[in-house]
Amino acid sequence: MADEIIIIIGAGHGAAQAVQSLRQKNFAGKIILIGDEPYIPYHRPPLSKKFLEGGMTIERLYIKPEKFYDNKNIERRLGCCVTMINAEPKYVVIEGKEKVPFDHLIIAVGSSLRKLDILGSDLRQVHYVQKISDILAIQKDFDAVKKIVVIGGGYIGLEIAAICRKMDKEVTLVHRGDRLLSRVVAPEMSEFYHKTHEEEGVKIILKTQVSKIEESQRTLKITTSEGDELSADMIIVGIGVTPATGLALEAGIFCDNGIYVNEFCETSAANIYAIGDCTNHPSPLYNKRLRLESVPNAQGQAKVAAAKIMGENNIYDEIPWFWSDQYDMKLQIAGISDGYDQIIMRGSQENRSFAVFYLKDNVLIAVDAVNSAGEFMAGKKLINARAVLDVKKLADKSTSMKEFL
Ligand SMILES: Cc1cc2nc3c(=O)[nH]c(=O)nc-3n(C[C@H](O)[C@H](O)[C@H](O)COP(=O)(O)OP(=O)(O)OC[C@H]3O[C@@H](n4cnc5c(N)ncnc54)[C@H](O)[C@@H]3O)c2cc1C
Repeated sequence: MADEIIIIIGAGHGAAQAVQSLRQKNFAGKIILIGDEPYIPYHRPPLSKKFLEGGMTIERLYIKPEKFYDNKNIERRLGCCVTMINAEPKYVVIEGKEKVPFDHLIIAVGSSLRKLDILGSDLRQVHYVQKISDILAIQKDFDAVKKIVVIGGGYIGLEIAAICRKMDKEVTLVHRGDRLLSRVVAPEMSEFYHKTHEEEGVKIILKTQVSKIEESQRTLKITTSEGDELSADMIIVGIGVTPATGLALEAGIFCDNGIYVNEFCETSAANIYAIGDCTNHPSPLYNKRLRLESVPNAQGQAKVAAAKIMGENNIYDEIPWFWSDQYDMKLQIAGISDGYDQIIMRGSQENRSFAVFYLKDNVLIAVDAVNSAGEFMAGKKLINARAVLDVKKLADKSTSMKEFL
C-alpha cells in the first residue's frame, strides 16, 4: 500500500485518531489531512468548559503536538475547505479549484450548528460555541459583559451557564423544553440539574423560546415567545447540531440522519468511510442505528475505519459514553437510556455524588453518574454484559459495585 493515498476530510477528534491508527498499523502510503479550521486537531470539549473561562492557550488544546504530524509524515492542508467529493474517479476538490486524488477517503466532518433564525440573530453579540474561533470572539467582549442570556438547556448550554456563573456573570437560561436535558436524561436528573443551577445563581426559564432580539445602545432586548422581555449584554446559543452530510449527499453517498455506515464505517461508496458525529451507525448492543455526538464515538469509529482500510474486519460495537463538567460535578454517562422502564437511584443528590441506573426488563441499559466514577465504570461493564441486576442491592450504597461484576 506504499503508493496509496488516504485523504481525511475534517481535522477533528476522529481525524486525529484515524491518523494515529493508520500509522500504528503501518500504513506506509501518503496521508493527507484536510481541515477548514486553521488548527491541527484539538480537544473540543474544553471549549464550553475550561477554555471558555480563559487563561488556557490554544496549544494546550491540541490532541497531539505539531511534531507528531511531522514525525508521522502527515501532509496537512489546514484552513482549507473540501467543496466536493467525487466517488468515481476518486478525488476531492479543495476550495472549488484544486483536485486531489485518493485511494481511500475518510469523511470526518463532524456536525453543523443549529442556528437561531429570528430577527436579530445575526447581531454581533449573539454567539455560538463550536470552534476555537467562536470562543475567541466571545472572549473579546467577555470582561465588559455583565448579563448573559444562554439559549438552550442541553449539555452545552448548561456548561456555558456554569462557566459564566463562575466568572460572576448574571445568567438567565432560556430553554424551550419543559425540563433541562429533556432529550437525554430521566426527569429526576433534570430536576437535580435544575435545582443545582438555581442554587448556583442561574435564572432558568422553561417552555420558552426567544422570538426576537433587538439592540439599543449596546444592550440587547430579548423578546420571548411568552411575550416577556429580557435584557443582556451577550447571548450564547447552544441549541444543538445536525450531522454534516452536505458533501456526502452531493457525492451520491447514502445518508439518513447522518452518513449511513455499516459496522466497519464503510459508506455506500466503495473505499469511502465516515466516522464521528457525521455518521449514523448500527449498534449491535442496542440492536438499532445510532447517531452520537461524543469524542469516544469519533475515536472508536476512527480505529475501526483504519483497521478496515488495512484489511482487518473489526466491528464497531462500543458502548456509547460521554461526560459533562458543570461546577464541581463530573457527570459521566454510559449507554442509551431510551425505552427504560425503571430507574434506580444510588448515592446522595445532596452531596452531589450519586448515580441513576436505567433498566429495561431488569437489564441495565444506561447509567448517569455524578461524581461517581465507580458506578460509571462498573455500569459500563454491566451494560456490556447485558446484566440482570438485583435492584434492591443496586440502590444500597453499602453494597460495593464490585459485587455486581
Ligand atoms: C463545545 C463542545 C463541547 C463538547 N463537549 C463534549 C464532552 O464533554 N464530551 C464528549 O464526549 N463530547 C463533547 N463534545 C462533542 C465532541 O466534541 C464531538 O462529538 C467530536 O468532536 C466529534 O468528532 P468528529 O471528528 O466527528 O468531528 P469534529 O471534532 O467536530 O471535527 C470535524 C472537523 O471537520 C471540519 N470540517 C467540516 N466540514 C469540512 C470540509 N468540508 N472541509 C474541511 N474540513 C471540514 C470542521 O470544521 C471540524 O474542524 C462537545 C462538542 C462541543 C462543540
